[in-house]
Amino acid sequence: MEDLWAELRDAHPELAAVREAAQEPVYLVGGAVRDLLLGQPRADVDLVVEGDAAGLAARLGGAELEHERFGTAKVTVAGHEIDLASARTESYPEPGALPVVTPAESVEDDLARRDFTINAMAIPLTGEARLIDPYGGRDDLRHGLLRILHPGSFEDDPTRAIRAARYAARHGFTLEPETDTLLRRADLATVSADRRRAELERLAAEPTGRVGLGLLAGWGVIDLRAGGVELMRSVEDLLKAPHWAELVAREQALIAAALGPQGAEEVLASMWAPRPGEGVELAERRDPVELILARAMGASWLDQYLTTWRNIELEIDGDDLIAAGVEQGPAIGHGLRAARNKKLEGEVRGRDEELAAALAAALRD
Ligand code: ATP
Repeated sequence: MEDLWAELRDAHPELAAVREAAQEPVYLVGGAVRDLLLGQPRADVDLVVEGDAAGLAARLGGAELEHERFGTAKVTVAGHEIDLASARTESYPEPGALPVVTPAESVEDDLARRDFTINAMAIPLTGEARLIDPYGGRDDLRHGLLRILHPGSFEDDPTRAIRAARYAARHGFTLEPETDTLLRRADLATVSADRRRAELERLAAEPTGRVGLGLLAGWGVIDLRAGGVELMRSVEDLLKAPHWAELVAREQALIAAALGPQGAEEVLASMWAPRPGEGVELAERRDPVELILARAMGASWLDQYLTTWRNIELEIDGDDLIAAGVEQGPAIGHGLRAARNKKLEGEVRGRDEELAAALAAALRD
């Protein structure tokens, strides 16, 4: 145990200031304990106070962000971000609902609300060096097992199934048999779409996100669309290439690849070598995620759109058309689009030709 403390001191020297400022027992909890035991100390730490977290935050120089309902605060100590929370219990009024939060006396009560044994351990920062491990998290960690704390866990909060996929994919952990059985019954439909999406995004954002989404599908918690596995793979490959990574967030693209939507991207993918003007008109109205999926489905013309077509701009603008006598209104847009298409297709060059082409189209309206 002394070793663990030494590691903790090395990994998080900023915690010395917390120890000094603490007037009530304070504990390192959750992922920070897990990662310390794994020998992978991390940047951010979560602390639980048996008492007033806001008071401790104030003594540490003030909180940047406070959540009164949950008694939580964020502070920066010596350049390190620390999350502080008062010990609390949670109860679920109905499956998938947000929990009702009540202050708790002890850190053990706080650990009881957590998702997996490996995340339900604590190390006191004050007093004697010890690991508080009421559910055998350390052993489970040694064996690479994800185990829930009680049989109703996934019913209370089905997003824990998504969290399981995140840890399983990240660390190569497996599900303990009873957890496995219960997880397969998790019903994400009882959770709000926002919470479901947020947890899916955290999963997909990880370097092992594709594996995690595959695990979730294998457990029957999400339905992958037909071809979803291959599509996720192609999307990942594209994200490594220039352009796409700037255009699309990895998590959005992977989730869309796994779950849909399908309509627009299929239309784009079914186009075989459109002319540049046509291609730009199609592509520029689309969400980047639709584009990356269409590309993953074979629309290779999108490479030209990305690298060349979309960068082509006219030398003229709407004011030039107005100055030339076109009335304000849709004719301006039509004219400019027609000129741009001709420019894309190499039919006009330079300002005068652009203007002539735009006027011809605008005046036809
Ligand atoms: P990461 O390593 O990805 O940062 P983490 O383990 O720190 O993950 P967080 O989502 O930051 O996880 O949550 C911190 C801790 O809060 C977890 O370790 C877990 O103990 C607890 N927790 C978070 N979400 C839930 C949940 N839905 N149900 C139960 N406990 C949760």
